[in-house]
Amino acid sequence: MTQESFSTSESPPGFQFELVTRACPGCGANDSQPFAEANIDPQALGAFAFASRKLPEYMHHALVVCRNCDLLYANPAPDRKSLEAAYHDAAFDAADESHYAGLTYASYLPRIAAQLTDRKGALDIGTGDGAFLLQLLQHGFTDVVGVEPSAAPVASAKPELRSLIRHAPFRSADFAPESLQLVTCFQTIEHVYDPLSLCREAFALLRPGAALFMVCHNRRALLARALGLKSPIFDVEHLQLFSPKSARALLVRAGFSRVDVHTVVNRYPINYWARLSPIPGALKPTALELLRRSGLGCFALSAPVGNLAVIAYK
Ligand SMILES: [Zn+2]
Repeated sequence: MTQESFSTSESPPGFQFELVTRACPGCGANDSQPFAEANIDPQALGAFAFASRKLPEYMHHALVVCRNCDLLYANPAPDRKSLEAAYHDAAFDAADESHYAGLTYASYLPRIAAQLTDRKGALDIGTGDGAFLLQLLQHGFTDVVGVEPSAAPVASAKPELRSLIRHAPFRSADFAPESLQLVTCFQTIEHVYDPLSLCREAFALLRPGAALFMVCHNRRALLARALGLKSPIFDVEHLQLFSPKSARALLVRAGFSRVDVHTVVNRYPINYWARLSPIPGALKPTALELLRRSGLGCFALSAPVGNLAVIAYK
């Protein structure tokens, strides 16, 4: 294992990375081909670099593709300790978006719940401000809990949800084995140092027949391929990017017996789409301000932007 660190005197606390080389975090293979060189400007790394759904910055680590499972991953990548520090201090300004994302993902709950023996015990990993916990409660789940490592989204959670959120990184030791019917994990699996361990730990917490429901970016989606490295999925906070093949391989490797992969049709306000779009940097604030003032930005639009819903049953 080699280590290098990068930081600048201007880096806020928590943004000093130790970079470590690693095998494929999806399958453990050491057989990869280069995809893109690192493109990181340490000066531009602000507290928003690790916030959910912020303005894209087009920065990314050195990226390789696993020849075995099709996972695209950062190598070298920041180590676990650097990441925990970075996420603890990350900013949060995404309450609207998390509400809309929660509605989109909740549309899968009836079909998942139909496969479960009951709705007792649900855990949302990387819950942010807990928007999805409300959806779980509204769909009849009980004993609902969320974990979130960043302080800012937890602080902005509605009071009735705040008590359901643990402000901590996900640790399976905090939960009883085989105690849950559903584990959800949205737009989070790209961010964790060891996605296979997370899935294995989730598996251990689920009762037989229970489900893990993840949403992640699909790097092989049409939009991602059209935008190339200008796609917002290429981001310093994404340590791996999945395709249908690599997502399925991850869950099968973690022990799940049945894995369903769907294309998500996201429903978001127009100003959210505009924030993520590849409008040149100088023009984007003007465009966003126009949308805000006209009120046009508040209208919701549905589109398949290249997210995968991965539903795996134990
Ligand atoms: Zn692999």
